[in-house]
Amino acid sequence: MYRYTNSLNPKIMKPESLMMSHGFKPELSEGAIKCPIFMTSTFVFKNAEEGKAFFELAYGKRAKNEGEEMGLIYSRINNPDLEILENRLCLWDQAEDCAVFESGMAAITTVLLEFLKPGDMVLFSSPVYGGTDHFIKKILPKFNIHSLEFTVGQSQEEIIELVNNSGMADKLALVYIETPANPTNDLIDIEATKEIAKHFSTPEKEVFLAVDNTYLGPVWQHPLKHGADLVLYSATKYIGGHSDVIAGACLGNASLMGRVKGMRTFLGNMASPHTGWLLLRSLETLKVRMDMQALNADKVAEMLNTHPKVEKVYYLGNFKPGDKQYEIKQKQCATNGGMISFDIVGGEKEAFKFLNALKLIKLAVSLGSTESLAEHPATMTHCDVDDADKAKFSITEKMIRLSIGVENHEDIISDIKQALEMI
Ligand SMILES: *Cc1c(COP(=O)(O)O)cnc(C)c1O
Repeated sequence: MYRYTNSLNPKIMKPESLMMSHGFKPELSEGAIKCPIFMTSTFVFKNAEEGKAFFELAYGKRAKNEGEEMGLIYSRINNPDLEILENRLCLWDQAEDCAVFESGMAAITTVLLEFLKPGDMVLFSSPVYGGTDHFIKKILPKFNIHSLEFTVGQSQEEIIELVNNSGMADKLALVYIETPANPTNDLIDIEATKEIAKHFSTPEKEVFLAVDNTYLGPVWQHPLKHGADLVLYSATKYIGGHSDVIAGACLGNASLMGRVKGMRTFLGNMASPHTGWLLLRSLETLKVRMDMQALNADKVAEMLNTHPKVEKVYYLGNFKPGDKQYEIKQKQCATNGGMISFDIVGGEKEAFKFLNALKLIKLAVSLGSTESLAEHPATMTHCDVDDADKAKFSITEKMIRLSIGVENHEDIISDIKQALEMI
């Protein structure tokens, strides 16, 4: 890391001030103010001794000498666009190291494969992202890896009892959560979940906690600060933010990230230089985009809360003091986020009428982008969830999920109002 470090101090300046320059030295690229796209598969060594030294470090054959930097070898292992991007992402979460991937699913599955082995069990929160749910329930069993799910709202004691009752407590190797939950915006206490991981850790085997922070990160929530060992992103969402790239990221301490990067090297699912470059560009506006999205979401939620054609609004801003969910929000979320779900008065017919009548807001899945999006979880993102679980999580025919963009809030609100009037 930090091969290209320049003189600005990340300990003093805020991440948004450093996103244009951190980790990039123009002198190494003909004075270019922006990092070029390093479209190269391999890198020329100055001499054979240098090549030998880089490989010794890359394969962990010896520790780094004082002041020694890992050099560039081959773009599956390292590439300037990815290294600079990883260094910049570290600033938001105050992480020691980061690995970027060609998708959020690539980041998530690499972590699951690295930290679980045959016979192990993963404890995970439900609901989780559909792709994660599928991988845990349908693919991990092929490797004889077991899973146990808990739901938002279950207490620390209840979850510990659940693990004990599974008869596999000694096999627990990883706890995996997603908070806020999609699409209901229910929160899980990260600190309390870390306590559960600690409860089942032994001197021989530490149980790690991984948190999918796609919904609020990396500006509005920092799981590592609350005890998480690894934080995961679909960078396709807020980090990319323009609906034009699929990517993922994982961050944590140097030792765990060494393992994640090792696995990435052999799965070969790192991001491409072009993806890295697109995300470097996106990061420059991450803070202003997300600030605007949160402001807009508060205004949209305020309107929905009192609209006669809206039955219920699922939004972080609606938790009330005294409520357990409110306490968790105060502790770990910097804003109410940019995601709002709501139940429309009626059912699928009314929900579809509303979605089909939207003009400015686009009817599409995904989230976190500059443009506002709307979708119908029950028949779209969550169609694979079985009916009992749908009922348990209030994912009914009347639910609509909105991802709020950076448009003028008055235009977003008037589009929603005119579409509601069509019902
Ligand atoms: C989109 C998403 C993913 C998957 O990311 P991809 O980039 O599509 O592979 C994982 N988790 C959450 C919460 C997501 O929203």
